Amino acid sequence: METRIKCVYCKASHYIKWGNRKTENRGIIQKYHCLDCGKYFTNDDGFYRMRNSEEKITAAIDLYFSNLSSRKVRNHFRRHWNHNASHMSILDWCRRYTLKVQKYVATIQPQLSGQFYMDETEIDRGRGNDVFWCNVDWGTRFINATMYSPHNQTVEDAATFLKATVAKGLPKYIQTDAGAFYPQAFQKTFYSNKVQGLTVEHRIQNYHKTGKHNVRIETVFMKVKDRVDDFRGLKALWSAPILMQGIILQHNFIEAHTTTGKIPAELAGLSLNVGLNRWLGLIRLSVQNRKE
Ligand SMILES: [Zn+2]
Repeated sequence: METRIKCVYCKASHYIKWGNRKTENRGIIQKYHCLDCGKYFTNDDGFYRMRNSEEKITAAIDLYFSNLSSRKVRNHFRRHWNHNASHMSILDWCRRYTLKVQKYVATIQPQLSGQFYMDETEIDRGRGNDVFWCNVDWGTRFINATMYSPHNQTVEDAATFLKATVAKGLPKYIQTDAGAFYPQAFQKTFYSNKVQGLTVEHRIQNYHKTGKHNVRIETVFMKVKDRVDDFRGLKALWSAPILMQGIILQHNFIEAHTTTGKIPAELAGLSLNVGLNRWLGLIRLSVQNRKE
């Protein structure tokens, strides 16, 4: 994949090659001389000034979002690589590249089946719950909306989340559990001119009647819930929503779903040419498509 090269100082693409720079952990890097501003630079390929190789960084991100704790990733690295990274560096990489990639994937449009399953997961943080809201499209298993809130479920939150869920198009139906806040939130969102003239069928899976949760999408939610466990040790509260987003990226764009055998993004018609190392490919795509 060819990266568009720009001067990191003035953003011009008017340059000549100017020898190499030898780096300790990232090998030999091409240097450039900008003919517009006269400065020397190396290309920002997404790993500009990182002190570790892109292979190691993307391996760490993939392992962490596959549900290995940051300390376990660090320990694995100690056994396999010469240069160590602290578990805090590993979390930094996960956050940094989640933000980069998230910015890019927000601009692309998945083709969904319109069969939506909505759920909220309570995250025990020892001072009351945070709640992670999540909507899965059944046909593709693509998670098209998430929301992180630092307090228990409310009608307002449910309504806000419903709006985000249908922002890019109305589904055939939305199935939820029997949470008391849902009917009111549907009312608020769809039947009082908030989304003008449009209605969406609300299907309710009543656990007490059927003994079943949202069974069809259970594997998706169980996976997300599993990964939430690692967050309990996180000191930085601001960090949790970003890492949650990373878990969703891992689900949508990196891992094949166990039932469909396909990556949700593929089923949603997003055949991104990202190669074998999918995190690396996504980061490169994000860098190429970034808006200055
Ligand atoms: Zn320049």
